[in-house]
Amino acid sequence: MPGPVNLEQDVPVDGWLARLGRGLWAPRCLVCGEAAGGRLDLCARCEAGLPWMPGACLCCAMPLGAGAVAGYPARLCGACQHDPPPLAEAHAAFLYGFPLDRLLPRLKFHRDLAAGRLLAQAMAAAFVGCERPQALVPVPLHRTRLRQRGYNQALELARPLGRMLELPVRPDLLQRSRNTTAQSRLDADARAGNLRDAFDVPLRATVPRHVALVDDVMTTGATLHAAAEALLDAGADRVDAWVCARAP
Ligand SMILES: [Zn+2]
Ligand SMILES: [Zn+2]
Repeated sequence: MPGPVNLEQDVPVDGWLARLGRGLWAPRCLVCGEAAGGRLDLCARCEAGLPWMPGACLCCAMPLGAGAVAGYPARLCGACQHDPPPLAEAHAAFLYGFPLDRLLPRLKFHRDLAAGRLLAQAMAAAFVGCERPQALVPVPLHRTRLRQRGYNQALELARPLGRMLELPVRPDLLQRSRNTTAQSRLDADARAGNLRDAFDVPLRATVPRHVALVDDVMTTGATLHAAAEALLDAGADRVDAWVCARAP
């Protein structure tokens, strides 16, 4: 008579049952596939390597380095002191770099919602101490682009972020009225010109006094500035930007 089956002895550690068990139950790191351990779906090494934003300019979210003016009351870079942008505050959870250069494109081009959830969790942790806006407004795509892609990555970040921070998400407050050339193909001046009047607020919409735009990546800021100007023209007193990553 054979004894009772003992799984620990009879199934090799890397047998199909162990692999199945790992695949079904153990959270995996979304970057490298190792076992995930912490709060986020990342392994300890990838979580420790996240490029959290260091001290940054309050208005443009650029890391404050040589441009900072000692003794200036607000944490503003020289460029923002000289020429204040339409955003009252801009906050980025991360500097753009590894592993954001893996996770953000997965959200943007492959609708990887697990990556989106992880990034929204990180944004919630980074922004929980910011002054609370009355609504989050995802930066919209033009309807042609939306039809091609099928979803808006800014909304996929804003939705879980709004749930976590208990803030209303209002994609209805802003629309993209012109289908602008892809910004990445243009230099900074051309970007600003390309975006003039690219956004508008629907006629009957009542814009809350204080809103925060949500987007995946801030590069020159031209897109966020154009969106902020449309909201300010429509009655907002204050528009902030909350982005996942700041590209230099
Ligand atoms: Zn990892
Ligand atoms: Zn600045």
